[in-house]
Amino acid sequence: MTLPQQDCGIARSLIKKVLFPFIYPPNCLTCDNFCHDPELMLCGSCVDLLELLDPLQRCPRCFFLIDPLKTMGCRVCRKLGHPFSGLASAFDFTGPPALLVGQLNYQRRRFLAKSLAACLILQFDRLNWPLPDVVMSAPVPVIETIFWGAGANELIAREVAGFLGRPYVGGLKFAGGFHLKNTTGIRDKTILLIEDAIKTGESLFACGRALLEGYPKRMYALAVCLNPSLYSEINEHGAADAEHS
Ligand SMILES: [Zn+2]
Ligand SMILES: [Zn+2]
Repeated sequence: MTLPQQDCGIARSLIKKVLFPFIYPPNCLTCDNFCHDPELMLCGSCVDLLELLDPLQRCPRCFFLIDPLKTMGCRVCRKLGHPFSGLASAFDFTGPPALLVGQLNYQRRRFLAKSLAACLILQFDRLNWPLPDVVMSAPVPVIETIFWGAGANELIAREVAGFLGRPYVGGLKFAGGFHLKNTTGIRDKTILLIEDAIKTGESLFACGRALLEGYPKRMYALAVCLNPSLYSEINEHGAADAEHS
């Protein structure tokens, strides 16, 4: 039996207006206010807070907020000594971006990986980094992947790799620390390492040190969110050291 064209139209309209909101409620994903456009999934106020950090105001190597008029070099970089040629994030670890990362991580809203990857691509375009040979991500413990599948880092990194047309390489493993798998072909390659959030930097820098064992050409790290107070302590200690030296 074939329904008349008009009935099909009414049915589609009912599914969209009645059933669709139950499946995907038209509330903003991050503040729960009414969302006028269910396809966008965020309200206007939250969209306004998704403003990319400006790389021109940041140290190109560690992304610490710097005074562009000062040419003395970055105090944090001198203290940090991390293995990346460049490190950056799309957003501070606060507000809607942090909530979206949390929803991908803890509520397993996997569809967010593509949206967050798109934000990373927009930021990558402003960083003037070279196109990577491979895209990688920080691994989660094997036991977590058994229960939950791929971690947020990997989900976002695979989407970033797809956008850039570059292969995703899962070359790291976590077993009491980060280790490079034997089979990883990263020698003389430019690596883009993707993180969902840099909170203390410890795991990211440990991943970087593990990757160095594969003799890559260069490594860059790009995160969705960066803890805005991550470098403040290092900077304060750096300033104190400078005053005493
Ligand atoms: Zn909102
Ligand atoms: Zn720096």
